[in-house]
Amino acid sequence: MIIMTWCILVNGRPIEKGILDATRLGGNLLDEGYCSLDVVESTIKFLEDHSSFDAGTGCEINFFGDILMDASIMDGRSLKAGGVGAIRKIKNPISLARKVLEFTPNVLLVGKYAEKFASFLAKQDKSLIVDYFAGTPQTVANYNLMKKKLVNIISDNYIDDYYSFLLSEDSKNVFDQVSVNSGTVSVTVRDNEGNFASGASTGGWPHIIPGRIGDSPLIGCGAYADNLIGAASTSGIRGEENIRLGGLTRKICDLMYSGLTAQKAVENVTEYSRKRLGLVLKRGSLIAIDKDGETGVNNVHSAASQGVGLMRSSMSEAAYFT
Ligand code: ASP
Repeated sequence: MIIMTWCILVNGRPIEKGILDATRLGGNLLDEGYCSLDVVESTIKFLEDHSSFDAGTGCEINFFGDILMDASIMDGRSLKAGGVGAIRKIKNPISLARKVLEFTPNVLLVGKYAEKFASFLAKQDKSLIVDYFAGTPQTVANYNLMKKKLVNIISDNYIDDYYSFLLSEDSKNVFDQVSVNSGTVSVTVRDNEGNFASGASTGGWPHIIPGRIGDSPLIGCGAYADNLIGAASTSGIRGEENIRLGGLTRKICDLMYSGLTAQKAVENVTEYSRKRLGLVLKRGSLIAIDKDGETGVNNVHSAASQGVGLMRSSMSEAAYFT
């Protein structure tokens, strides 16, 4: 007899209550019989609406006054996937990524045409909220502070000065003085039927060049799921490194496919990232679930930690660890 168990892993900035509430929400939905894909979307949506994470409402505002967001979601049953990159004014990027998965033959839509697609869909589906100014009192204050700090650097030639500044060494010093949300969120789920799904959502990093797309919307980088193997997702890793390493979530899945447990696969990829690019991955930045429902969380090299929420059907309460 095989006893199927559901299991959900959620990670992001270490804000215990937000992560625990999201994990509980996902756990309740799994208990009610929702499939892993629905649970990934709902859980990430909850985190996007929570102002403390760098996803959805909590994303930082860039110098041009824009909030640029990336997200992706993948269904392990069909290997269908959807991603959106550098989109603005969409309340829940993860839901738009889900629409790309469901309604298009494509995987990734970016920028203004992704926004147009969202506006078209929003006419029929009122749950997709467009023309939404994400932003919180904190991110607006951060934006005003950044502008103030740049007042002497950026003068008449507004756009050229800004790009020159972004490419200079000074930019890091200035941005380090502005406290910003950083904390992409990601969710990995196995449901009662043994179906896997994964997703990620982010506002990227505070001092990136506008228009940049990170790892979160890229399948195999931000998230990967395959019913034959398991699923993995990431948060808190600079996207450029994840992309240059060829997609860490796909690598974790490859290792699980070759027989490693989720934990061993995550450790192996953490070690590879250290060896190859000297990365010290934050504890909890890689999460995975294998076919047997065992979980993997990187915990070897820990500079800082991501908060991780875990719940499985055998647990009466969600657990949180950093
Ligand atoms: N990986 C995200 C990005 O580079 C950032 C993060 O995970 O914190 O866009």
